[in-house]
Amino acid sequence: MTTAEQGLLDTFGRRAVDLRVSLTDRCNLRCTYCMPEEGMQWLAKDTLLTDDEIVRLVGIAVRELGIREVRFTGGEPLLRPGLVGIVARCAELTPRPELSLTTNGIGLARTASALKAAGLDRINVSLDTLDRETFRTLSRRDRQGDVMAGLAAAEAAGLLPVKLNAVLMRGVNDHEAPDLLAWSLERGYELRFIEQMPLDAQHGWVRTNMITAEEILERLSARFTLTPEPSAARGAAPAERWLVDGGPGRVGVIASVTRPFCRACDRTRLTADGQVRNCLFATEETDLRGALRAGGADTDIAELWRKAMWGKKAAAGTDAPAGIEAPAFHQPARPMSAIGG
Ligand code: SAM
Ligand code: SF4
Repeated sequence: MTTAEQGLLDTFGRRAVDLRVSLTDRCNLRCTYCMPEEGMQWLAKDTLLTDDEIVRLVGIAVRELGIREVRFTGGEPLLRPGLVGIVARCAELTPRPELSLTTNGIGLARTASALKAAGLDRINVSLDTLDRETFRTLSRRDRQGDVMAGLAAAEAAGLLPVKLNAVLMRGVNDHEAPDLLAWSLERGYELRFIEQMPLDAQHGWVRTNMITAEEILERLSARFTLTPEPSAARGAAPAERWLVDGGPGRVGVIASVTRPFCRACDRTRLTADGQVRNCLFATEETDLRGALRAGGADTDIAELWRKAMWGKKAAAGTDAPAGIEAPAFHQPARPMSAIGG
């Protein structure tokens, strides 16, 4: 068996085939569930991986470690000047990984067609509200128009199906769940709601403020008939999906907190400063940047990555299946925006 066939295994028999790469920890929004209005400590410039270093690490991941899908995220990945070039170079790798992007959509109106031409296969755009004023409150920036223009451009560029991510906040946008779904269905967008996780930079997450999957489904069921998709169709995907009014429209819910899916997790993560994380909630990281800059060979770096994944814990960085809900859970020091969501 080659090392790529063996892949990135852990002691629970899971194999990571999906790599999330954070391209920057910076952002042009300040979503309240993600970061504070002011006072963010950004990663130092000289610690950030260069475009060449990112492409080299992604190359090692696909050739030596069996990675099949690469998602670029952040922070806001569209802020990275070299994004289109990185996508183009990753599309030339053999074996060719599936390439996707998670973005807030600001700037997508300018870049969607170049990204498609570079080889981007899929896109997820985050949109939490249809109301301009609520958008401004939630993200602390008046940029909803840019997001809408970005969505239209993604669709026109053929980045289909456009997927939408939404986080609901109690008393802010939770009443909008059915409207968001109706709006998405009309346009052929695939909407997924994400339970709010304790990964905000300000450590302000409170369990009772989170809108649970059960509450989301309750709100949607007031207007739509939801039929669960068979769990076999889910695979390692974190979203549970429902057919809406008999289909073909669908909606997903990512219940990271109340229904953890860690047993099927197939992800590994690379931060913008070159650290491998075996879990969103890991408290330890493995420094690939140091190895790279010390002249490490591809095989040395692959070995470090393999070791990092072998140490992956059972659920959300803990030994307990309940993950985030377990007493042993601790929020990691690094926020979501610096890990890559
Ligand atoms: N800036 C891009 C965006 O917003 O799509 C990419 C990075 S963002 C961290 C990736 C996803 O994580 C977004 O869909 C965002 O809504 C979600 N997210 C951020 N903080 C979260 C939290 N505390 N709980 C759940 N989802 C969160
Ligand atoms: Fe920026 Fe995305 Fe975090 Fe919002 S969720 S502040 S868009 S990184």
